Amino acid sequence: KAKESGRNQYHYFAPSMQQQVNRRVELEQLLRKAIANNELAVFYQPIIELQTGQLYGFEALTRWPHHDQFIAPDEFIPVAEESGLISELGEWMLMRSTSDIAALNTKLGLDCCLSANISSQQYRLGFNATTLRHILRQTGFKPANLALEITESILLDDDQAILAWLEGLRATGAHLSIDDFGTGYSSLSYLRRFPINTIKIDKSFIHEFAHAPDSQNLVRAILSMAASLGLSVIAEGVEHVAQLEGLKAMECDLVQGYVYAKPMSLEELEIWCSEFAQEHTQSLA
Ligand code: C2E
Ligand code: MG
Ligand code: MG
Ligand code: MG
Repeated sequence: KAKESGRNQYHYFAPSMQQQVNRRVELEQLLRKAIANNELAVFYQPIIELQTGQLYGFEALTRWPHHDQFIAPDEFIPVAEESGLISELGEWMLMRSTSDIAALNTKLGLDCCLSANISSQQYRLGFNATTLRHILRQTGFKPANLALEITESILLDDDQAILAWLEGLRATGAHLSIDDFGTGYSSLSYLRRFPINTIKIDKSFIHEFAHAPDSQNLVRAILSMAASLGLSVIAEGVEHVAQLEGLKAMECDLVQGYVYAKPMSLEELEIWCSEFAQEHTQSLA
């Protein structure tokens, strides 16, 4: 198409497309090496019980440190998905995070949950209940304390096969969450058809919260629908106290966002947990 529209434009567009391709190829090679050399890390972001102010658990978020900065997951996760590296990355992340949080729970006398993102590509590449059971057995993580986060998009695929896959994962004892809820083409009937436990309201709704009454109404509607279906709800991307108070008034169960904490390394998390426990005890006293 660029070629048809003239020689000048062809020369104008071609290098940038080539650069994009090069960047992809380069990132894929770098990622492959980073995984092999064990250079990836998992960060953890706290999830809080809104009504009691207690610590509920953590979401695991993979980090790729590279030349004293981080390459964003929004950049490398798609590369991992397209190259198939997501299979290895995803299993490594589950192994790392269940092992980290099992150790943290033991060390601090906690019983915290762990929430981990699973890509729909992992389904296509063969990640399943057998793999999950193997990982849980290796790290000794309590299955009922694990939630796997999937996105709505996967539920649009071949119904029966996806249903069997999800039921298999549920049968390990792990829970299932819908991530970025409200951003996909959801018919909502899938919430009854599939064995879903939790929905995570996408941060875009929370961010519009203060200014747009429509967003508030939408969140309220999601909460009431979830309650009637017996699903728990996590509000994501909560940055301000005003949002927190709005959600509390709506009786939202769980929140996650910068207002409490950013994702952090296991070392930082351990300190954060100790401080949080202290503050919480003090505020009760
Ligand atoms: P997600 O699963 O929706 O994770 C939440 C994202 O929101 C994280 O971005 C988190 O850092 C960010 N966040 C948390 N609180 C706030 C807040 O208050 N405000 C704002 N603006 N953002 C907040 P992150 O870590 O950059 O990850 C981006 C996405 O990459 C994740 O979105 C997830 O879909 C994907 N991802 C990350 N790690 C993994 C992984 O190990 N496996 C898979 N399959 N996907 C992953
Ligand atoms: Mg997530
Ligand atoms: Mg996600
Ligand atoms: Mg999300």
